[in-house]
Amino acid sequence: MNFIQNLLTENKCYIAGAKMAPRGIVVHSTGVNQTKTSAYLTSWNKSEVTKCVHAFIGYLPDGTFGTVQTLPFNYKCWGCGNGSKGSYNNSHIQFEICEDNLTDSKYFNICYKEAVEFCAELCKTYGIDTKNIVCHAEVYRLGYGTGHTDVEHWFPKFGKTMENFRADVEMAIKGDTSPAEESPVEEGDEEVAVTYYDWTTACPDWSVPYVQKALDMGIIKGDEQGRLRLTDDRIWTLVVTLRATGIMK
Ligand SMILES: [Zn+2]
Repeated sequence: MNFIQNLLTENKCYIAGAKMAPRGIVVHSTGVNQTKTSAYLTSWNKSEVTKCVHAFIGYLPDGTFGTVQTLPFNYKCWGCGNGSKGSYNNSHIQFEICEDNLTDSKYFNICYKEAVEFCAELCKTYGIDTKNIVCHAEVYRLGYGTGHTDVEHWFPKFGKTMENFRADVEMAIKGDTSPAEESPVEEGDEEVAVTYYDWTTACPDWSVPYVQKALDMGIIKGDEQGRLRLTDDRIWTLVVTLRATGIMK
């Protein structure tokens, strides 16, 4: 997984800033032949835009392929609209996969793989059960969103259903059993449990402006999977540095 943050801070939804505890994930695809996320990072970062999701999967501004986070994951997004029973906008992390012309299996496969890995990370971070991963078309049938067909107009062309997708996310979560990741203990640092904050939203509230500033300035970057791997010590170093250099108070 290749992960960056580019929050759409001018978007009306970001400005509204309503919070939620994520309980599920909605998978969307854009319905437009445009594989570059930069198109959305620009056109959606405006106060008159009344739609927003938490992330896009597609080509990133640097030309690599990956995921760009556009809203904090604990914000309510404006993604799937309202259905007869309510809206998953109040409870679900939602992302768009940038579509191509829907005929290229190579492009589909990199999108699918990235989406599986992204969902696996979200499930682990927020304790989300893979059965609570749904696409927009399923959300509509469940009564929690507007009548759209994404992603059922695309995935089946390449032999994939949402059942396959949920199973693949489950496998990605279970397959991730490397000792370094399972262990809450730093190597050679026995019996001292270290908490890692992998996402900005997981960091202690007071530290979020500092972490965000450091990300914006490129002082810190995520690892190859986009995880920040911050600890209390590392956050403290960051805060002291930002204060000492007069960048923040
Ligand atoms: Zn949709």
